[in-house]
Amino acid sequence: MGGPTIVWFRRDLRLADNPALAAAAAAGMVIPVFFYDEAVDALGGASRWWLHHSLAALDRSLASLGSRLLLRRGPAVDTLVALVRESGATAVCWNRTFLPALDRADETIAATLKAAGVGSRRYGTNLLHAPETLLTRAGRPYQVFTPFWNALRQQLIDPPAAAPERLPAPAQWPAGEALAEWGLLPATPDWAAGIRESWSPGELGAQERLEYFALAAYGERRDFPAENASSRLSPHLAWGELSPRQAWHGVAGREGAEPFLRELAWREFSYHLLHHFPSMADHPLRREFAVFPWRDDPASMAAWRQGRTGYPMVDAGMRELWQTGWMHNRVRMVAASFLVKHLLLPWQEGERWFRDTLVDADPASNAANWQWVAGCGADAAPFFRIFNPVLQGEKFDPAGRYVRRWLPELAALPDKFIHRPWEAPPEVLAKAGVVLGETYPFPIVDHAVARRRALAGFAALRGERG
Ligand code: FAD
Repeated sequence: MGGPTIVWFRRDLRLADNPALAAAAAAGMVIPVFFYDEAVDALGGASRWWLHHSLAALDRSLASLGSRLLLRRGPAVDTLVALVRESGATAVCWNRTFLPALDRADETIAATLKAAGVGSRRYGTNLLHAPETLLTRAGRPYQVFTPFWNALRQQLIDPPAAAPERLPAPAQWPAGEALAEWGLLPATPDWAAGIRESWSPGELGAQERLEYFALAAYGERRDFPAENASSRLSPHLAWGELSPRQAWHGVAGREGAEPFLRELAWREFSYHLLHHFPSMADHPLRREFAVFPWRDDPASMAAWRQGRTGYPMVDAGMRELWQTGWMHNRVRMVAASFLVKHLLLPWQEGERWFRDTLVDADPASNAANWQWVAGCGADAAPFFRIFNPVLQGEKFDPAGRYVRRWLPELAALPDKFIHRPWEAPPEVLAKAGVVLGETYPFPIVDHAVARRRALAGFAALRGERG
């Protein structure tokens, strides 16, 4: 009888629709393992919190099948080779992350294993399609979303597979590390209380969200941040607790599915772009933006991060992010646009803050969306279209419910002024207990002035090109 098969878990922390796990289970004894390499993973605080709980949940699910999750720290290649030697494993299976740097590392790892006489198999269900397979008629990567979406929806998307029923254990378990020793959770201060209340990491939590979110109302209500009308599946998808195939087939054919499937396709598009243009993780896809005259202004950056810009829609979003590790998509667009266009601060700094604070921080979706907002990405919003945070607030949070929830200091303001407190007459402010400059800031920039400054920066950029 052959040795056990190692299943290397990565951003696929689930039992169902996991082809690497299924292949290992079909072959015999299975050793499930997760490696944590701080240098490579470079996770933000919120992601580390999520990972801790997701690994604990995965271990519980594996235990229900008579198995367990082995944890080891260190560079994947060394740790994997060491584990192969210790366990007598004859094969290693894993699912591709489809992130360019990790895809490249996978090649080296497979070659190293081969040299050691160990077979490896790679699978790919973290996307609906492998990014190298979907190309334009001219054989090029897509850079415009709609044709990409049209091509994607014509692909046959296989139904998701069930979880294995049994996972035979190895004769002897190799030693693992204790999750608690990895220090993934915040200690002093413990900033995660709001995150704990908001989320249930793990495959079961993901399945519940998929089943219970209100799909029928999604298309119409998803842009209104007070309504809780989007799926909130993003962290589950980012960590692979749910495969996109499960999400796709979980809704396809049901009333209201189309707009949701389209959003799933934006995730695919982000991965497609990063795969074909790996430098877009830190560099603008549209090269001319490399010389954009960004400002350096730590005080404004701090005000944005802390939700103290004086624009309620922006500040509510930044506080929601800090407290729950998530921000509604419409508000992400408004807050990101404010950083890039009103404050003229580089999108990369915003991307970094989101990476640190989002529970759904995803290298592909984060970079692609920041570039989209900044006007330098694929199919991006043109730079000269500048969101007005007041009008966005009045349109998408007309009764101010979202703003009042995250900015209790403004809660007593009448609807008319909730998105523009600086225009409220003194007696209205006094009645609402708002003292501008004390309980809530004055706007850190004037919208009209900031707009002119942004457009001048953009004109300078075009001047340099010409
Ligand atoms: P739903 O509306 O229910 O959508 C379903 C799923 O589709 C999401 O879970 C997500 O996986 C995917 N999706 C939806 N919109 C997008 C989009 N625009 N781009 C890519 N995928 C999308 N999403 C992340 O998952 N990780 C990030 O790091 C991230 N950073 C962002 C940064 C900025 C500046 C902006 C504007 C958007 C960012 N997004 C990111 C995209 C989007 O805001 C979130 O995916 C969405 O808000 C998650 O909420 P939901 O699960 O309720 O989404």
